[in-house]
Amino acid sequence: MALIVQKYGGTSVATPEKVIEAARQIRAAREGGNQVVVVVSAMGGATDELLRLASEVTARPDARELDALLCTGEAASAGLLSLALNHQGVASRSFSGPEAGIRTDHRHGRATIVAVDPHRLREELAGGSIPVVAGFQGRSITTGARTTLGRGGSDTTGVALAAALGADHCEIVTDVAGVYTADPRTVVGARRHTALLYEEMAELAVSGAKVLASDSVDYARTHGVDLKVRSNSAATGPQTWVSDGRRTAGAATGQPWTPAGRSRPIAGVAGRSGLVRCVLRRITTDHVLRLLGELAERETEVELRRYGNLGTEDAGDIALTLPEDSVEDMRELLADTDHGIRLDEAHWTTNLARLCVVGLGIGRHPYAPLRLLEALRSAGAARTDLHVTSNRLSVLTGSGDLAAATQIVHDTFLSEPVTPLAHPAGPDHAGPARPLAAGPGQLRSAVPALAAAE
Ligand code: ASP
Ligand code: MG
Repeated sequence: MALIVQKYGGTSVATPEKVIEAARQIRAAREGGNQVVVVVSAMGGATDELLRLASEVTARPDARELDALLCTGEAASAGLLSLALNHQGVASRSFSGPEAGIRTDHRHGRATIVAVDPHRLREELAGGSIPVVAGFQGRSITTGARTTLGRGGSDTTGVALAAALGADHCEIVTDVAGVYTADPRTVVGARRHTALLYEEMAELAVSGAKVLASDSVDYARTHGVDLKVRSNSAATGPQTWVSDGRRTAGAATGQPWTPAGRSRPIAGVAGRSGLVRCVLRRITTDHVLRLLGELAERETEVELRRYGNLGTEDAGDIALTLPEDSVEDMRELLADTDHGIRLDEAHWTTNLARLCVVGLGIGRHPYAPLRLLEALRSAGAARTDLHVTSNRLSVLTGSGDLAAATQIVHDTFLSEPVTPLAHPAGPDHAGPARPLAAGPGQLRSAVPALAAAE
């Protein structure tokens, strides 16, 4: 008998009808001979509504109380889903995150799971009942307070429970039928992957693909939890497996094995808006170190894009990108750390988005960045701070440009089937292989200068 953790996202429990359908699918999994542990998100839109309510009461909510409020979203959907299961004749009990044994650090709003003690869930399973766990929440081992795991954190609850219980796999049930080369709800021509490696999924998740929370992918990779992403409309329809790839090796299928070539196809395109860039010019190394130290200590979510000395001996420039909601923190910090050291210029650019192209080894392809810049220029999209790592190209563009930029970049890198022959882990509907980058003759125009994003 297999043990499966099924995590139902907010859109999968958004209405009473959907809750009833989720209960039906859970029951079917059980009748198929599996043991099932369920994790559930708040009903679609409920967390945003709770945040909105909080903001009507105060502009700077206390982090502990905000978590206490947010936990109620998942508590409600867990109770409701258990009621639906009971109504369908299936014994079920709901559990809060703390009751399910989820222990975290004390960081409200972005807590990390540090331990899981699932003995109550095991007892429940042994008694033949289906536990339904409220996702996204736990209890701090230092303060004892309820904590939340950050947006999308129910995925992390699901994977952590699957690891703790030694489940066969963790099913992520959502409103799309798997992981696509871009968000299929907004990008024309996005194709579903049948299988992805953890590394690819992790890069897509940090790039802004919303289908899985990036913490959950890290846990899955570290603990070898296979993930199956599928649609809430049918338990047996199309899906994407995210794993270490052994599942798709030739030996498992009995087919002759054909290497995929030196590099894998492009995994996808993803983006994130709501970013702000702060450039500080001509500041000393001392000041930079102090600033970075303070940002780390305050745990401000910030990404260092560039630091360097552009000619003078004792001063350099630094470019940081941060989400809009960290800007207040950053401004305060700059004011605080400015004693005695004059900032010649702090330059802010708002309404930015980061667009990423993900593919294992993409950073080794010399033409890939050129194609990215050309595509953005042809769409008239702002572009700056191009950044290349082994598995990802990223560039900042304007928030207003993101949709068009994503479409054209997807067309550029993924318009034709790119799955190497016989590799089982590529997108569906795969055709013949295509080289990643255009050859020199195909790049008619020169590399465009980086346009300022303002
Ligand atoms: N309800 C939380 C959110 O909206 C957690 C989740 O859905 O996974 O972020
Ligand atoms: Mg989610």
